[in-house]
Parts: sequence; C-alpha cells; structure tokens
Amino acid sequence: MNKEKGKLVLYSGASGVGKGTILKKLMERDPSVKLSVSDTTRAPREGEVNGVHYNFVTREEFKRKIAEGGYLEYAEYCDNFYGTPTAQVEQMVGEGCKVFLEIEVQGALQVMKKYPDILSIFILPPSFDELEKRLRGRETEDEETIRKRLEQARLEISVRDRYKYCIVNKDVDKAVEEVLAVIG
Ligand code: 5GP
Repeated sequence: MNKEKGKLVLYSGASGVGKGTILKKLMERDPSVKLSVSDTTRAPREGEVNGVHYNFVTREEFKRKIAEGGYLEYAEYCDNFYGTPTAQVEQMVGEGCKVFLEIEVQGALQVMKKYPDILSIFILPPSFDELEKRLRGRETEDEETIRKRLEQARLEISVRDRYKYCIVNKDVDKAVEEVLAVIG
C-alpha cells in the first residue's frame, strides 16, 4: 500500500465509549481526517445511512469479498461480520488523507501485524460503570446485545497496551485535542 502521502490511523475502543462522537469532531477540525467506511452484515440502526456509516451487505456478499481478497482486515464481532475494504483505503491514503480505521481489536491486531509502525489510538471510558451507563443510555440495543457488548468491552480493554496511545474520553473536547495532538 502507498503510505507516502496520507496515513492510516488505527482507532479502537469499546462499544459506547464515544469513538464516533470524537471522530465527528475531529473531521470538523481537520478536513484531511476521513473515516474508512466498513462493510458490515449487521442491520442498520435508526438513522444510519448505507455508504456513509457502513456499507450494509449480506453474509453472501461479505464471504464473496473475503474470497476475492478484498479486505485489508475483517472480523466477526457479536454475531456479525465487519471488514475494511482495501481499495477504498488505498485510494484515500493516496489522496493524502488521514484515514481512520474505526475497528474492533481482532481486526486491529491483523492490521498491526501488516503495518507494525502504524499509528494506533485506543479510546477508554472513564470507568467500566460509566461505559455501561452510556451503552444503556443510547437505547439502540436490546438487553442480550448490551450484555454481549459489555463482555466484549472487557476483552477489548484488556488489549489496550498493544496500542501506541490510550486516550480517556472523560471530556469529549479534551479527548479531541489529545487525538489531534497525536495525529499531527
Ligand atoms: P457497531 O456495530 O457498534 O457499529 O460496531 C461494532 C464494532 O465493530 C466496533 O468496535 C467497531 O469499531 C467495529 N468495526 C466497525 N467496522 C469494522 C471493520 O471494518 N473491521 C473490524 N474488524 N471492526 C469494525
């Protein structure tokens, strides 16, 4: 991959930690920051737009693209597949963008193996209780899904040491400043 012009940024954190809110603010502050739009087999949440938040695909389409080698990485997370389409990321990096891969840790570890020098950022909640409160507060998931996501969050937080930077999202604006400082 041509990494000369732009750069790839690995960006992870437990479900409900506020990664999306921080990223939205980052994009307003720095127009070269772009989100890599992933493919997913999960159903859209209310308000999510195909091609903007995710490309919503069937399991068959996803499997076909795996077979064609179309993903930079992919993972199964809480019963759905998520993957980063290689072509789109290459294009944006080639255009000079700071391309954020907002992905869970299994996929992130695959990318770290491919690009050991990649800039990686992990967003942490102020506490686990606070994370649970936020996840329940957004009222987008049923109890079973919330339970799975909290279980997954404990696992994810345990691998935070693999990331170059860990940033606590206590105050969103402060977290945005900290991310801007590390991406340069
Ligand atoms: P959500 O269903 O809440 O949108 O996403 C669930 C998890 O999947 C989040 O941690 C999110 O960052 C991650 N995710 C989103 N896209 C990708 C992707 O392309 N690959 C991987 N490995 N994880 C992803």
